[in-house]
Amino acid sequence: MNIILFGPPGAGKGTQAKLLQDKYAIPHLSTGDIFRTAIKNQTPLGVKVKAILDNGKLVPDETVVDLVADELKDEKYDNGFILDGFPRTVPQAEAFDTIAKDQNKAIDAFVVLTVPEEELISRILSRGQGRADDTEEKIKTRLEVYHTETEPVKNHYDAKGVVKEINGIGTIDEIFERITSSVEK
Ligand code: AMP
Repeated sequence: MNIILFGPPGAGKGTQAKLLQDKYAIPHLSTGDIFRTAIKNQTPLGVKVKAILDNGKLVPDETVVDLVADELKDEKYDNGFILDGFPRTVPQAEAFDTIAKDQNKAIDAFVVLTVPEEELISRILSRGQGRADDTEEKIKTRLEVYHTETEPVKNHYDAKGVVKEINGIGTIDEIFERITSSVEK
């Protein structure tokens, strides 16, 4: 099963991706996690993207697309994957169509977690992960970027008939149950 988890920052994508990974035994691929690890290890990629992440802006499409295309070649993704944080722009979604076709990987479900804006901000401020982009100012930038650059990606998948809208308000278990019953339908 190939799943894309989609939604604004603070919607719970990372939390739900980990639960899905355990339930379906398919790996979770988070572009944000890859960037944060690269920054921590001060790799060339990390050095290149640090200021972008710190400011809540988006890494250039080409960098992200190349990274995902390369990563997905790993055989651990052959039986499925959960993409979290990608694609985040329409050009990324278009490029991913080509990658998915070349690598014979169709998307089965595009799961959209819906959470009201006030709730997102308070969740991020209280999650206390110590992320440099979790300040109120950076959260506002990330939400703006989400609305302008990322939200239109949903239309791209609407046209493919794979979108599952999930109410992202409730306990972690309740939301997880909604997601699994929706993708197993
Ligand atoms: P996330 O952990 O998904 O919230 O991502 C954290 C940060 O990593 C974002 O604010 C962006 O700076 C960067 N990032 C992650 N995924 C992407 C992507 N698909 N395109 C561009 N930037 C990304």
